[in-house]
Amino acid sequence: VAGTMDGAAIARGVREQVAGDVARLVAAGGTAPGLATVLVGEDPASEVYVRNKRRSCAAAGMVDLHRHLPGDVTQADAAALVDELAADPAVSGILLQLPLPDHLDPGELLARIPVGKDVDGLTVGNAGLLAQGLPGLRPCTPAGVLEILDHHEVPLAGAEAVVVGRSVLVGRPVAQLLLERNATVTICHSRTRHLAEVCRRADVLVVAAGIPGLIGPEAVRPGAVVVDVGIHRGPQGLHGDVRFDAVQDVARLLTPVPGGVGPMTIAMLLANTVTAAARQQGIAL
Ligand code: NAD
Repeated sequence: VAGTMDGAAIARGVREQVAGDVARLVAAGGTAPGLATVLVGEDPASEVYVRNKRRSCAAAGMVDLHRHLPGDVTQADAAALVDELAADPAVSGILLQLPLPDHLDPGELLARIPVGKDVDGLTVGNAGLLAQGLPGLRPCTPAGVLEILDHHEVPLAGAEAVVVGRSVLVGRPVAQLLLERNATVTICHSRTRHLAEVCRRADVLVVAAGIPGLIGPEAVRPGAVVVDVGIHRGPQGLHGDVRFDAVQDVARLLTPVPGGVGPMTIAMLLANTVTAAARQQGIAL
């Protein structure tokens, strides 16, 4: 039976590390990092996500610089707020909570976030740095996947890695991060033929397809390490893209849902925010 990779525990460790970094930054004469979450409108799911981010930010000793815009804000007014935050030295990181109301253009607003304050790692600038293997702020969920693998000392150099999903948010950056670590990376997507056969090549299988139970034991090489990014709310609670119970008999290590990748995302956001603040202040941590 596979070991479980406990994302909740790993995330706690990252948060403690971040709180220590914040204290060191301040002790070195810097100022505490400030995170500006920007929420537009009243989407209930987004409200929950933003509340959790703000709470975690404060718990790590950072300054909560949350801003809330009305759902009918104009593109120009939203842009003016992003520009104000971009220019404010108290703001270390800007997180524009997506999705935005339909009348707003998210790409145009994201493009106004300076690369050094883009703690979600989702701007074209940071995606470009990642694509070229240059240092930058990495997207939080993909960074969390790598953190889980590193915590368990999963060998990546030369390993066969298969990523299911090619979204800008998850699959694509996960693949690039694995490539940066010298894995041999295959990316599967909705047009991939013989998905199970391709997945069975993997020493490390990362699944971010957004399809409940897509991956069963037939798609897993015995002894593989499997990371499940999928989150689905069903009548019996949260489920992933991987059929946990069946895959547990085949894999060596596996993330659960909930309690796997999910808790890592906010932890990596906090890590990005303290990293951004230290760089802006010219203090090495
Ligand atoms: P998405 O819908 O943007 O992308 C899904 C990707 O999977 C696409 O690239 C598509 O080509 C591929 N795909 C779809 N069907 C497939 C199939 N049958 N075979 C192979 N590939 C297929 O979704 P996303 O934003 O990348 O999110 C993926 C999942 O991860 C979702 O369940 C989402 O809820 C979850 N998620 C979790 C976190 C977190 O843990 N914090 C963060 C982001 C997303």
